[in-house]
Amino acid sequence: MITDTHCHLTCDEIYSHIDETLENAKNADVDLMMIMCTNKTEYLRALDLKTKSPEHLKVAFGYYPGDAKEITKEDLEFLKAEALSGRMDVLGEIGLDYYWDTSFKDLQKELFKTQIEIANEAGLPISIHMREASRDTMDLLEQYAKTPVILHCFSGSEPIMEEALQHGMYISFAGPITYKNNKQGPINVKACPIDHLLSETDSPYLSPVPHRGHPNEPAFVADTVAKIAEFKDLDQDTLQQAIRQNFLTLLGKKASTPTQEEIADIQSFLATCDPSWKEIQLKEEAK
Ligand SMILES: [Zn+2]
Repeated sequence: MITDTHCHLTCDEIYSHIDETLENAKNADVDLMMIMCTNKTEYLRALDLKTKSPEHLKVAFGYYPGDAKEITKEDLEFLKAEALSGRMDVLGEIGLDYYWDTSFKDLQKELFKTQIEIANEAGLPISIHMREASRDTMDLLEQYAKTPVILHCFSGSEPIMEEALQHGMYISFAGPITYKNNKQGPINVKACPIDHLLSETDSPYLSPVPHRGHPNEPAFVADTVAKIAEFKDLDQDTLQQAIRQNFLTLLGKKASTPTQEEIADIQSFLATCDPSWKEIQLKEEAK
């Protein structure tokens, strides 16, 4: 019963061979995965996958900080409607990323705050992306977040982790903790209490050792979990059970499993309000 709390199963790179990916996960005993969706196409794909295996999949949807310039009022209205629909488990990943571009920090902050407020209103946990932006991210979370917080792929400093834990946030570790040159990773893992720790892949990115150089997939979360168990001197079963319990606790109430009719309704709604959506839909059908 291994848990991958963060995988981009419906991004183009993975979705093109999704059946094989889910089969690999099953064979590796990875039986609970949260699909992270960064746009409407990925979200619709995720809802569709969930209808086929609701007991193994959770769905998260939110707009990525790097996309802040492109996100429209209509995009946010759609996110809000879906957050309130009961179909989403988590809102995210959302946050701040100053690694690639610092030219639109204010826009990133505004998008982040708006999405935290949507999550508050819907009572949804949030999954946080922060890169080179720990201080600003923590400030906004401490000021606005009222629901459970997951710091995804945590790679910050120990003081930031301590601060996050004091606010009851969950710390999620990914492939980089298995890298030999990562000195901070093992320190963080050791210092993180087992009741606030999570495991993830962030697939298709950040493959853990020994899969570096290959695209990541949920099956590989087993290698990250094994490394966490080693650092914490725990047996893997105890650790896996704790992670599963943490994840289910923070999720709280279960999201509903959409019907095919609901998915068709969302499709036609998107086609009426967004002319470009028809194109996306046709591309989907052509696959
Ligand atoms: Zn991600």
